[in-house]
Amino acid sequence: AFNFAAGPATLPLEVLQQAQAEMLEWQGTGCSVMEVSHRGKQFEACNAEAEQDLRDLLAIPSNYKVLFLQGGASMQWAQFLFNLCGSNPNGDYILTGEWTNRAVAEARKLLPLWGGSVNIVASSEDRNYSYIPDEGSWKRRKDANFLHICSNETIQGLEYNFIPEQLGDVTLVADMSSHIVSRPVDVSRYGLIYAGAQKNIGPAGITIVIVRDDLIGKARPDTPRMFDYKLMADNHSLLNTPPTFGIYLAGLVFKWLKRQGGVEAIERKNIAKAELLYGYLDSQDFYYAPVEKGSRSRMNVPFRLKDESLNAKFLAETEAAGLVALKGHKAVGGMRASIYNAMPMEGVQALVAFMRDFAARNG
Ligand code: PLP
Repeated sequence: AFNFAAGPATLPLEVLQQAQAEMLEWQGTGCSVMEVSHRGKQFEACNAEAEQDLRDLLAIPSNYKVLFLQGGASMQWAQFLFNLCGSNPNGDYILTGEWTNRAVAEARKLLPLWGGSVNIVASSEDRNYSYIPDEGSWKRRKDANFLHICSNETIQGLEYNFIPEQLGDVTLVADMSSHIVSRPVDVSRYGLIYAGAQKNIGPAGITIVIVRDDLIGKARPDTPRMFDYKLMADNHSLLNTPPTFGIYLAGLVFKWLKRQGGVEAIERKNIAKAELLYGYLDSQDFYYAPVEKGSRSRMNVPFRLKDESLNAKFLAETEAAGLVALKGHKAVGGMRASIYNAMPMEGVQALVAFMRDFAARNG
């Protein structure tokens, strides 16, 4: 079956097979990675190697820390505020859908308490979050602490095809949960990148944070210990018991990505998969893609049947054909095909062939 689910995890078959083979015997330890001490040399090496491989893949500059945390991307909505807002609690946000709305909701609880404010710089709510607002229309504050974006809105299926301009000292913060390692990224343009790992990287339970050195060590005094990036960085993310299995599996995915030729090669595949699917959607009028062309995500492709009364039939038949989990998120309805790194081209070809046939039979 081809799994088009938006999450929690879509993993390459090769990686699952390797994890299965190592489940009872990992690196001569006589047990699985989950059963060895996270302070032991084997796990420390696994942790360090995973970090190095991610650094290599994304060409992360040496003045950035890479942290493997827990709590999901959702926890970052609060955690990064404690770390960044030691002296300036003013945050700018771009609203592009479900996940940025949730990030803003957390900021609205905390920033006013600290004497600051949340500013919505731009929003695409007016057209149902079907586009990324044009940068020329953004109303940014030069004295904001940070500008927060979600560079791939998983539910609405929007992806930035540009990096916002630097404005004064404003730190650019990005939620990259659903497209990290699907394409190269110029990390140096961001102060902070965070991502729940469970789309392109590994199982749920590990959260990646990439943060510039000069932004850490200035957390608010009321920052809980577990929230403090500096403490986590000083302890190589081993401040408390880390998500060892998640880090191990992420490490296997990073090696797999390197074998694929890195993020440049995986990007070419992702472009080809997305072009095939959007190309088909735009070529006929049985289905349509609601997101405007310049803002379409390569990872999450929402689409709708013109005749929505056929939705249940479409879903039942796709499931029966081994094309699973195509139902759109309940917040938007319709269909959504998530085509992360682990989705082979054959999966997208099979989907398009099915859609063509379904349209012919029901049009
Ligand atoms: N941000 C984005 C872009 C997401 O896709 C998700 C989950 O799918 C989240 C945040 C929330 O992540 P988590 O469930 O890891 O907290």
